[in-house]
Amino acid sequence: MKETVLITGATSGIGREMARMLAAQKFNLILVARNGEKLAVQKKEFENSFGIQVTIFALDLSVQDNAYLLFEKVRNADIAVDMLVNNAGIGNYGAFTETSLEQELMMIDLNISAVVILTKLFGREMAKRRSGKIMNVASLLSFLPFPYYSVYSATKSFVLAFTETVAAEMEKSGVTVTALCPGPVDTPFQTKEMLETNAYKANKPVSAAYVAKKGVALLLEGKGKKIPGFNNWFISNLPRITPDYIMMNIKKKLASPKSKS
Ligand code: NAD
Repeated sequence: MKETVLITGATSGIGREMARMLAAQKFNLILVARNGEKLAVQKKEFENSFGIQVTIFALDLSVQDNAYLLFEKVRNADIAVDMLVNNAGIGNYGAFTETSLEQELMMIDLNISAVVILTKLFGREMAKRRSGKIMNVASLLSFLPFPYYSVYSATKSFVLAFTETVAAEMEKSGVTVTALCPGPVDTPFQTKEMLETNAYKANKPVSAAYVAKKGVALLLEGKGKKIPGFNNWFISNLPRITPDYIMMNIKKKLASPKSKS
């Protein structure tokens, strides 16, 4: 029987594209996002087009209890998760003293807590079976935190550090843990204000399908981390050869709101 992949944040952007690609490869899917109606449409489409089994759970994963609930629901449905993709994530943009604290705490719960909870619970089961694959979606900003994305950058630095250390611990367990680290991607994640900055003009967003293809390949291969696109890979290495204060000044200029640049 074909393996089952659980994808969080599967109704939009990179997650939706990965779900479609995995469905086309005949993997059974567990799709999780907040919007039950969108999930139901996707389920019908994938089951009809690809003859796979799709299970859906409409849950807000920024609520910690819901991450535990997801694990329980999957267990009650008696489905073994062979692969887990922690993709759901939100960001915001703006001067830290002006952005919403409530939104940032929610971001920490979704981008960090849900990833830790789901990796722990499903990772333990995979370790017991000595088989499984986990992929966490980090970011180019995991390598170079940007001003005006302070909390978001920090959550993605966490995701990368967490992923690489757990991957090392689990090296001989039969379970792989990888990190996908995209640069700008053309999805609803981006706001008009973000797109107006020089950062986006200098490094144009790529399609979600392009990044998803790299993500699916990384998940299945199960090795290390992937930064899609040569230019993003190059940018990720700049902090190694550039003094911190120069790097931070460049990033500040690039990301400054249009009104302040
Ligand atoms: P998107 O907004 O298109 O999709 C996000 C998905 O997460 C949606 O399915 C949404 O329903 C789901 N989601 C959001 N909040 C949720 C919640 N509270 N509970 C459950 N599901 C929730 O964004 P995207 O660009 O496809 O982002 C996917 C991942 O890629 C995120 O982790 C993001 O941080 C990361 N990323 C995006 C970019 C980019 O430029 N778009 C760059 C680097 C990394």
